[in-house]
Amino acid sequence: MTTEVRTLVDIGDISGIEVECPQCSSKVFYPVAKGSERLLSQCPNCNENLFIINRNAGGTQGSLTLEQIKVLMRILKFLAVPAVDCTANVRLQVENGIKGHTNLARSMENK
Ligand SMILES: [Zn+2]
Repeated sequence: MTTEVRTLVDIGDISGIEVECPQCSSKVFYPVAKGSERLLSQCPNCNENLFIINRNAGGTQGSLTLEQIKVLMRILKFLAVPAVDCTANVRLQVENGIKGHTNLARSMENK
């Protein structure tokens, strides 16, 4: 017998994006419903750089990852509203053994 466990998330169930500082573990949550466009590049608690800001060839400054997260936020906000041209159930599949769950499990084992 084969058993398969899959974790699927409805796009509308994604409430936002969380950014955690690697230095002090402070977390900032950006809700999809608010369409947050002003993501912080530095930790509001310890000022650690959360994204590496580079100077582009055109002379502007930015982080490609930060810009991609902003695009993702816009897409999630758009997709959160049920589309009239889509009758299918569209879901995201999450890898089993999610990183956060694995770390939680390890911290529980070490106690
Ligand atoms: Zn921090």
